Amino acid sequence: MINVEHLTKYYGQKLAVDDISFTVTKGEVVGFLGPNGAGKSTTMNMITGCLSSTSGQCKIDGIDIIENPNEAKKLIGFLPEQPPLYYDMNPREYLNFIYDLKKCTLNRREHINEIIDVMGLGEMQHRLISQLSKGYKQRVGIAGALVSNPPIMIFDEPTIGLDPRQIIEIRDLIRTLGADHTIILSTHILPEVQAVCGRILIIDRGKLIADQKTDEINSLAEDNRKFTVRIVGSKNEVLNFLRKTEGAAKVDFMSSGKDGSSLYMIQCKKGYDLRKTLFYALAEKRWPIIEMQNVGASLEDIFIAMTR
Ligand code: ADP
Ligand code: MG
Repeated sequence: MINVEHLTKYYGQKLAVDDISFTVTKGEVVGFLGPNGAGKSTTMNMITGCLSSTSGQCKIDGIDIIENPNEAKKLIGFLPEQPPLYYDMNPREYLNFIYDLKKCTLNRREHINEIIDVMGLGEMQHRLISQLSKGYKQRVGIAGALVSNPPIMIFDEPTIGLDPRQIIEIRDLIRTLGADHTIILSTHILPEVQAVCGRILIIDRGKLIADQKTDEINSLAEDNRKFTVRIVGSKNEVLNFLRKTEGAAKVDFMSSGKDGSSLYMIQCKKGYDLRKTLFYALAEKRWPIIEMQNVGASLEDIFIAMTR
């Protein structure tokens, strides 16, 4: 469905995307994961025909995005990092405007009603976009991308700037769309792709460094379990003890509380889960654990695990 070959982009002397190739097949939901400045937006903009490449090519369902942009673009709904919304329109007017722009031929009323429904915009459809919350603005952006029912959806950092509840809502919407769309979701947030995508491409400094099933990335993360633990006891003695525990890769002191407790971050060695071990060992020392919390792997943890 999407075929990217040797895609490369220079901005002047600056190499932003370095010879990237990958394929996305019909129905896949693929995460495009990388830190800020990695080249995600540049790649998304080239795939969607919004930016020309320096070399390489991209085909959408066999159609070259540069040679035949109008045909190829019809297959794609794109939510750019900064969605181009018109703030003095309401959502319904905006969708009608996009409908005309895309020269959509579906039944106008039915189609727009359906999009408003799917995106949960019913109550907001007559309110000016300028007065909507960031979460609703983002829904309007996604709604615009849905006009004319393109089979492919591309989202560039769709949850940036949203509050935690809005983030969950937008992720749920994307997951729902994934049931009948081919999707690329670009983000710098590992849990976001873990929550939504079946496969993850990792980009770093313009280069594609991994292309793996989400399960494989998850088990990489689990192999390197990380958690915080709050323990009551003398900080130096506890820290020494924790660092000597078999299976502890790294122990960091985080902070001390007023109740004589301290918080530590523990990174386990591959194959070790120290949560139970420490429960018994610290009980024996009479250093009570008053709090314990798993810390999800970060993108940095994955980078380190992969380059090991
Ligand atoms: P990401 O979306 O992963 O954060 P971008 O694709 O926006 O990364 O940027 C990749 C690199 O290209 C960054 O180093 C960025 O500073 C640079 N870059 C992006 N856009 C431009 C531009 N218009 N001109 C020059 N450099 C740019
Ligand atoms: Mg970006």
